[in-house]
Amino acid sequence: MPDKIYLRQMQALPLIAKVHMSQQRIREWYDHFDGNVYISFSGGKDSTVLAHVVHEYYPDVPLVFCNTGLEYPEVQAFAKKMGAEFIRPRMSFSEVISKYGYPIIGKEVSEAIHYARLIIPKDSCGGGYNKEGVVLHYERSRAELSGTRDDTERIATRARRMAKSKLDGPYATAKINMGGGTENSVNSSVVGIAKALKSMFNKRKWLELCDETDFRISHKCCAVMKKSPLGIYQRKNKVVPFIGTLASESRLREQAWIRHGCNAYEGNRKSSQPLSFWTEQDILKYLYMEGWEIASVYGNIVGVDKNGFEYEPLPGVDCQLKCTGCDRTGCVYCAFGCHLEKGETRFQRLAKTHPKQYEYCMGGGQYVDNPDYDPFAPAMDGEWKNWNPKKIWVPSKEGLGMKKVFDDCNQLYGKDFIRYE
Ligand code: SF4
Repeated sequence: MPDKIYLRQMQALPLIAKVHMSQQRIREWYDHFDGNVYISFSGGKDSTVLAHVVHEYYPDVPLVFCNTGLEYPEVQAFAKKMGAEFIRPRMSFSEVISKYGYPIIGKEVSEAIHYARLIIPKDSCGGGYNKEGVVLHYERSRAELSGTRDDTERIATRARRMAKSKLDGPYATAKINMGGGTENSVNSSVVGIAKALKSMFNKRKWLELCDETDFRISHKCCAVMKKSPLGIYQRKNKVVPFIGTLASESRLREQAWIRHGCNAYEGNRKSSQPLSFWTEQDILKYLYMEGWEIASVYGNIVGVDKNGFEYEPLPGVDCQLKCTGCDRTGCVYCAFGCHLEKGETRFQRLAKTHPKQYEYCMGGGQYVDNPDYDPFAPAMDGEWKNWNPKKIWVPSKEGLGMKKVFDDCNQLYGKDFIRYE
């Protein structure tokens, strides 16, 4: 079973070795499904590299672009130029926000807030709620946001079991100790691991965001805007995807790679991510070396020194690369991770490069009746303050109303928490 150390070793390989390994995984995936495959094409750098690498062997594998309406116009134009087939989600972004909530902070935090805010009467636990596992999410999310989720025992037991097995995993330290260590050193390492994992669940910092804002927050946007239309395409055409994601992009992606490797043959979400162990620098280097076109919104690929000075890289010289334009081209209005950005943020850049889209994003918004308002819900559920506003903030015809959302976040976490002006 792959683990984090193995991933780091793969990420440290020279680019040429990575290309060969990716080609091998692509061939395995293609053969396993008798060529019933497609490329999930986002129009970004990673999926552009993926498209070229797959097409070197299998030029007929179709590109499928999910046109959420949230991409830069230049990215949509590029996807068209690459010959991608366009599919659409059933809901617009503003409908998704109104129904589920704004995608802010990150997937794990927004998911916890979404579930923790539910008001589930104690005597109705079961029925529809339990069937979906909602009660479990709701209880865990409340514990995570109050900082009381304690999985030490559960994780320590799992760590001991994993350490005894032949498998590698995040419990490798315990396993190493088990080889030559005393029982005490093994125990202290499993407890150490359990504590570290417990801290991953601690979302106490976001309790105020959950309690004190009057707009919905949710993780569901990607599922509605991207996963669902691609799932429909897959079922209809009986195909499985190549996806150009990198494990280095997020902890969730890294964990997914540790669980399944590049080719996930099992489960409901079969997919091949043959570039998983590439880094962003590999992607830039490969694009630069091969001279492939990328969406114009990225600008050019240039070398950059430690003082930020940009220059034309010499052929064959290893150097740090960057794009002169946007460094990410995902959904233009997505606020996931925007509080972590250094330097010019995506929204500050959007204001300069695409003022019309910026106006739509920040402007508008309105208060409407909260369809989930429960007049009988108590203000407190034990220690927990129920989230039960009569009116909630949602997008309007004029715009998504993100300015108010960001201002509210900045009031809670400091004026530069989300920089957008
Ligand atoms: S990346 Fe952001 S905006 Fe785009 S579909 Fe996912 S959550 Fe929604």
